[in-house]
Amino acid sequence: MARSSGRAPVWVFDLDDTLHHATPHIFPHINRAMTAYIERHLALDHAAATALRQHYWQRYGATLLGLIRHHGVDPHHFLAETHNFDDLGSLIITAPALADTLADLPGRRIIFSNAPRRYTYDVLEQTGLRQLFDAVYTVESFGFQPKPLRVGFLKLLQREQVRANQCIMVEDSLANLVMAKRLGMHTLWVTRSLRNSPWVDHKLRNITDLRYLAAWSQRATCGAK
Ligand SMILES: [Mg+2]
Repeated sequence: MARSSGRAPVWVFDLDDTLHHATPHIFPHINRAMTAYIERHLALDHAAATALRQHYWQRYGATLLGLIRHHGVDPHHFLAETHNFDDLGSLIITAPALADTLADLPGRRIIFSNAPRRYTYDVLEQTGLRQLFDAVYTVESFGFQPKPLRVGFLKLLQREQVRANQCIMVEDSLANLVMAKRLGMHTLWVTRSLRNSPWVDHKLRNITDLRYLAAWSQRATCGAK
């Protein structure tokens, strides 16, 4: 399904809070489910479970990683129990022009998310974006080694047979962009923050602002081999 030569950009998209707004409805649901899971399986009260979830999120960039490392939690069971939605479609918020914006970008588009596979595909189906992506990598794809761990990025580059400087990472998480930039990727930060970062090439207030960067993307990656 590749549409481009080896020199065109490879767009590496995060999913949550990048392609859709997860913070208003979806993250609160997942956070409640994760806290309840920790209460049940580690026999903690609500306050202690909440604190542990936040601690692992801050320390590892993913609650799951702390639970695997320190408590031997089964990742498949945890992800299935905590990403269980009765009506996911009603919780998703996306920009109306997003599909057209993505379709107009030159090069390949792939997803690189810390979310589980089933949830990721459900979001892509519900938003009508699935057919716009050439590949989808989720937290299962590289052995539960989520961003910002270096190993997941390296495996993605290997799997896609591309060099880092051919890739443009589009993300809301600055920590993930720092790793992307360290490896040589170009970086776009989806944020309302007024802060700037030396690890970021451009900031986007809205994901649909990508439409202004098509020419930049080709210049940025044209020297990549
Ligand atoms: Mg995100």
